[in-house]
Amino acid sequence: MQKQTWTIKSIISWTSNYFSEKDVDAPRISAELLLGSVLDLSRVNLYINYDKPLSDSELKQYKTYIQRRIGGEPTQYITGTQEFWSLDFKVTPSVLIPRADTETLVERALAFISTCQQTPLNILEIGTGSGAISIAIAHELKERDLQIKAIDISEDALKIAEENATLNGVAEKIEFLLSDKFNAVSKSEKFDLIISNPPYISEEFYDKLESKVKDHEPKLALYADEDGLIFYREIFSAGHGHLNEGGCILIEIDHRKKDDLISLVDNEKYSAPVFYKDLPGLNRVLEITKRSTSQE
Ligand code: GLN
Repeated sequence: MQKQTWTIKSIISWTSNYFSEKDVDAPRISAELLLGSVLDLSRVNLYINYDKPLSDSELKQYKTYIQRRIGGEPTQYITGTQEFWSLDFKVTPSVLIPRADTETLVERALAFISTCQQTPLNILEIGTGSGAISIAIAHELKERDLQIKAIDISEDALKIAEENATLNGVAEKIEFLLSDKFNAVSKSEKFDLIISNPPYISEEFYDKLESKVKDHEPKLALYADEDGLIFYREIFSAGHGHLNEGGCILIEIDHRKKDDLISLVDNEKYSAPVFYKDLPGLNRVLEITKRSTSQE
């Protein structure tokens, strides 16, 4: 960068070109998010202040952010935030960065909940990570009498999730619990809805992940041994005993595993799986409902 007075406008345009040359994805948005984080301005406010010059210290901090992004670090871990369901979430390398595709899971959960009469309605989330899914649901249904238990195997992730629940004003609706799948959930506890975006990248696909994901996001939240289906096996089998009659499991999937997942579902215990697509058109969410006639 030459010595000159940089304005918000000129530095965004310089960075977008530089990021494009260096094959950084979403070059302009990344530049705007990084600069917005340095200046504590939303993207809209950057536009309003287009001609504002940057101070030396702002420029210095921004340069370190650019270097980190060029080094492969995801923008969200540099700014420490990600938007999901139009809410702001704190993210660190201890949690997966919430994906827009996962909003499909929130949509389906809200659709299911709208058909339920129970009060309170009990929801279990397995592997909450940043807390994005549970927090989005609780925030959307502020008036509804519902209780969410959100569990994770990572203590560091739970700390972030708790902070995010407080930041978004839903802390009283969600109980966070350290648990490896159902281990810390009492045997007799039942839920109307079990939701999860479990780790599902199989051995075969993990090595092929882009380095932005593989080298920076937590393997614990992405990788599932061998065929990538271990969490589905456990959640389908143990989840059945934790569901109320008519209760349902909504779970994010790798679209390439649809057929394997169909054969994993026990038809005596659950209805035939229904699949929902994300915005790009890929099967993203599987729904199964506990059969009301089933014996336990
Ligand atoms: N959808 C994520 C990805 O492709 C994976 C999420 C997960 O394993 N649960 O990076």
